[in-house]
Amino acid sequence: MIRTVIWGLGAMGSGMARRIASKPGYQIVGAIDLRPELVGSDLADLEGLSTIPRGVIVSADAQGVLADTGPDITMVATNSFVEAVLPNLEAVLNAGSNCITLAEEMAYPWKSHPEEAAALDQLAQQCGVTLLGTGVNPGFVLDTLVLLLTGVCSYVDHIFASRVNNLAEFGPTVMQSQGVGITPSEFDEGIRRGDIVGHVGFRQSIDMIADAVGWSLDEIVEERQPILSSVQRISRYARVEAGMVAGCNHVAYGTMNGREMIRMEHPQQVMPELEDVSTGDRIVIAGKPDIRMEISPEIPGGVATINLAVNMMASVLTAPPGLKTMLDLPLPHYTCLDGC
Ligand code: NAD
Repeated sequence: MIRTVIWGLGAMGSGMARRIASKPGYQIVGAIDLRPELVGSDLADLEGLSTIPRGVIVSADAQGVLADTGPDITMVATNSFVEAVLPNLEAVLNAGSNCITLAEEMAYPWKSHPEEAAALDQLAQQCGVTLLGTGVNPGFVLDTLVLLLTGVCSYVDHIFASRVNNLAEFGPTVMQSQGVGITPSEFDEGIRRGDIVGHVGFRQSIDMIADAVGWSLDEIVEERQPILSSVQRISRYARVEAGMVAGCNHVAYGTMNGREMIRMEHPQQVMPELEDVSTGDRIVIAGKPDIRMEISPEIPGGVATINLAVNMMASVLTAPPGLKTMLDLPLPHYTCLDGC
């Protein structure tokens, strides 16, 4: 049995726990979270996790859980940023456990956080384990999938990728980080303060693509604009009056020798259908040959992240030690052993 610890029991961590518990050959041996309402609970008593065998008690003592359970692999779903997850990842590697993290900045930290990436790579190698950062985006839609499509090209001139999605199912943290429900001037203020961030991971996706195709970029520019609603939009966690902000239109592009080579757009808003905006993922590669791919509606973010991370576990367990990205491991895929 592959002994697995889940670190972070939010939407993603509990989704992964549910999926891993039904995966033949895998066993959840530990669960870590800081939330007082979770600590001390049996994992099986948490919402949606009743199929998990009883006896795994949620603990805030990460070091204790890792030492007591000796996991083969730990799934870290706590935070988006390298600075925040670094101590979590070091603890996991030092415990001799392989690791998959959903932290967006860990999907390709080699350019944005070179020192941290090199140190984690070295630690993983010393400990004889593998560390992977992945998720739907970054990790798949705007990078791995883009690169896969370039595999049939003899020349690539420019890459465009966009992801138009609906934020309605996300919770208050996401609403706040996208500026949903506030005035345009409050949005501008939030951008200045750094409370409104839009999408985390453009930089990592663009770096991954550029490094893989061999483009040495001058710079990556990111721009965030409010998406203003002309109608009232009311969802579970958001109330947007006409004239207020329904989301954030986040755009990023990378240039080489002053010329744009990669452009990405990720407008995220609540209930885009109220203004006839269709959701979807689109990749356009201008090259030889030209490639156009459209997925409509978009690949659903939450469930796709959970499935991708769980589907990558076997590859991480058998990979050589070190810090890996989706470029280093075999293509992600479903296997019917998972429950067919
Ligand atoms: P969430 O806020 O629902 O859950 C995070 C959980 O981690 C919470 O229960 C919190 O209490 C716990 N936590 C935070 N810091 C902790 C710590 N130091 N020790 C123990 N527990 C800790 O978030 P989520 O929706 O489950 O997502 C988790 C992370 O994954 C987020 O940062 C999110 O942005 C990221 N994510 C990435 C992708 C991707 O495509 N790469 C996709 C989805 C989510």
